[in-house]
Amino acid sequence: MREKQTGKLLADYHLETYLQCPYKFYHRFVAGKKLNEYSWRQVVQNSVNLIVHQYYSLPPNARSKVTVLRLIQQYWSHIPLHLFQDKAQYYTILAKMTDHLLQALTKKEIDNSPLFLYEQFQTSIEEINVSLKFEVGNWSDRSFTVTKFLVDADDSMAKLYTYLTILFSHTAFGMLPEKVEVITLLDGNHFQYSPAETDVQLAKAYFTELKENIRRPEEYTHIVSPQNCSHCVYEVECNFKNEVRDDKKPGYFH
Ligand code: SF4
Repeated sequence: MREKQTGKLLADYHLETYLQCPYKFYHRFVAGKKLNEYSWRQVVQNSVNLIVHQYYSLPPNARSKVTVLRLIQQYWSHIPLHLFQDKAQYYTILAKMTDHLLQALTKKEIDNSPLFLYEQFQTSIEEINVSLKFEVGNWSDRSFTVTKFLVDADDSMAKLYTYLTILFSHTAFGMLPEKVEVITLLDGNHFQYSPAETDVQLAKAYFTELKENIRRPEEYTHIVSPQNCSHCVYEVECNFKNEVRDDKKPGYFH
C-alpha cells in the first residue's frame, strides 16, 4: 500500500514517520524494509479511519451513539489481541477509544455530506510533490474546517498536520481553512487552530526546514527520542537505537 520513498513524493505519513523517529523513516522508506507485523497503534489507527469514514458516509439521521458503538464493535473485532502487551492493555485502549470516539463523533454534528471524506490530494509545495489525505472536511461560514482523528499525537504531530493543511489548502485550493482540528483518541484531546494569512509563511519555513533535515541522515541522531525504541516495530533489527541518547531531543519544536 505504501511505496518506497523515492525523494520525489512526500506524503503525510512519510513526515509523520520521520517525526516519530528519523531512523524509522530510514528503515521503512529509504531501505524499504518490510514489516513482519504492524504495531497495535497502526492497526488501531486503521480501524479508527474505517469507523470515521463509515460513520460520515451515512445519512445524518442514521448517525447516533448506537451507530458508533456498532461500528467500533465491527472493526475492533478484527484487531488481534496478541499485538498488545496483555489483556489489560487491550481492554484499556478499547475503553478509551470507545469513550473518546463516542464523544468526538456525536458532538460533531454535520447536517449534510462532508466536503471531503478521506480524500487524497496531491500538490507541489516548494518544488517537492506532497500528498495529503484530508480526513473530514466540512463547509463553514467563511470557508471550510478540517478534522483529523489520530490514536495519539504530541504537539509536534499536531503542528505538522496543521501546517501541512494550511500550506496544502493555500496551494491547492487558494484559500485557508477556517479551522484545523486534530483529535487524539487515547486521551480525548482536541488541538484546534484558526489559521491566518501570516501562517502560510510560517508553514513554508517549517516545511523547508523539515525537508532539509530529512535530507541530512548524518544528523538524524540529534533528533531522536529514545523512549520510542521500546515500542518500535524495528527495535530488534535497528542498528541505530544505541546511538540514541536521553539528552537528544527533537530539534524542530523547541
Ligand atoms: S528502534 Fe529506536 S532508533 Fe531505531 S527506528 Fe525504532 S525508534 Fe528509531
